[in-house]
Amino acid sequence: MKYRSRADMRGQTRARYLVGLAMLALCLGTAVPLQAKTNRPPNFIVIFVDDMGYADAGAFGSKVHRTPNLDRMAKEGRKLTSFYVASSVCTPSRAALMTGSYPRRVGLHTSPAGSANPLVLFPGSSRGLNPDEVTLAEVLKKRGYATGIIGKWHLGDQPQFLPTRQGFDTYFGIPYSNDMGVEVGHSFPPLPLMRDEKVIEQEPDQSLLTQRYTQQAVQFIQRNKDNPFFLYLPHTMPHFPQYASERFKGKSANGIYGDTIEELDWSVGRILDSLRQLRIDENTFVLFTSDNGGVPAPILTYRGSNGPLRGWKGSTWEGGMRVLAIARWPGRIPSGTVTDEMILSTDMLPTFAKLAGAEVPSDRVIDGKDAWPVLAGAANAATPHDRFYYYQMGYLAAVRSGQWKLHVIRTAYNKDTKKTDMEDVLELYDLAKDIGETANVADRHPDVVRRLQAMLAEAREDIGDDQTKDAGKNVRPAGYIAMPKTLTRGDSSRK
Ligand code: MG
Repeated sequence: MKYRSRADMRGQTRARYLVGLAMLALCLGTAVPLQAKTNRPPNFIVIFVDDMGYADAGAFGSKVHRTPNLDRMAKEGRKLTSFYVASSVCTPSRAALMTGSYPRRVGLHTSPAGSANPLVLFPGSSRGLNPDEVTLAEVLKKRGYATGIIGKWHLGDQPQFLPTRQGFDTYFGIPYSNDMGVEVGHSFPPLPLMRDEKVIEQEPDQSLLTQRYTQQAVQFIQRNKDNPFFLYLPHTMPHFPQYASERFKGKSANGIYGDTIEELDWSVGRILDSLRQLRIDENTFVLFTSDNGGVPAPILTYRGSNGPLRGWKGSTWEGGMRVLAIARWPGRIPSGTVTDEMILSTDMLPTFAKLAGAEVPSDRVIDGKDAWPVLAGAANAATPHDRFYYYQMGYLAAVRSGQWKLHVIRTAYNKDTKKTDMEDVLELYDLAKDIGETANVADRHPDVVRRLQAMLAEAREDIGDDQTKDAGKNVRPAGYIAMPKTLTRGDSSRK
């Protein structure tokens, strides 16, 4: 199917088209323009920044960062104040966005067994997103979309697991986190910058990454303006170690962390400007969000803020998994609005599929649901979810249903063993009245506790729980290879 852009229609062709359209419109009322609009599937852009705090943009309450483009995006779109990612760390969160499924369901809730760090994938890992999973990119590609990823992948660095094997036509970026290179002092191989499946640079100048990603993103948009496209832009920043280009370095009121946020904001502005210039603004759905919550000061150079939310990246408090999010699609998503209805990152797969007229895989469980009525501001539209599970890696830690959130286990540092253990808790919070999770009201609402405990029992049976040793009857394996290799040769002498 070929899609015609306005730019293609020039001179007589354009005049004839307009006269024809006007005549048809006279005969059929408004049916023709609407028909024309709905026949062309929308473009999707997901801007997925790394470790940005809930309150790090002006539109979400920051008084310290200048984010005019995000603020404008919020004015032109819809703020999502109860948007959840499925994990408070990188790899599992990304696995959920790509598959529309809980990370534990697709086996990417941890590193491989026996890894030194249990949280995320490390260079040369034997594990990755199973190629049998159907990614958001594959869903849209099947419908004829051009698909591109620019930025950090972090779902496996072996050839079988790279984005080019998981539905993306093109890839420019780093395969895992930016602290997994020789710079930060581990014995990692040099950080690779990749184009498609080739390493094109080692230890790239990170101060230029936001700029370079943005340039690549704008070029991708320009190249694909005449056909539907999906652009996934998982920025490297503001993850540690933070870098900004000369233009932004030292300019914010919040150190290098603030500099990276202000440069990311600039990047958002460039993307939105290019959509306007190409006149595809009204046919493009843009989502801006973060892969997990902010990181506390004064660790390293982070100075993120999760505003009213308790906790940070790495926790199942709201500050770990409820993230700032803005959805914008002029004419389709009501401008200057806010919704506090619960929307999940896993909802993007079925929601985009519906809008694109694409198919959601029907041979497996997909946890996400169509969130379009809430995004579109339909009258009385409510969240499609009666529950959301908070997993701490493989451990089922909490559940939210409506205003209620029940915590049942939490990580606790054991001074004697010098290990982090899981500790049983029973804490109920009323998020409608107590967004900061300060007052445990479990004693006052035993019925609510019982109802939420029953939901947790269902999750254990379905998705599993390391705490109770439930494997989960509807889980799928991660991808695994026996003999992984690093993308670039290791240099353990530089520690
Ligand atoms: Mg992250």
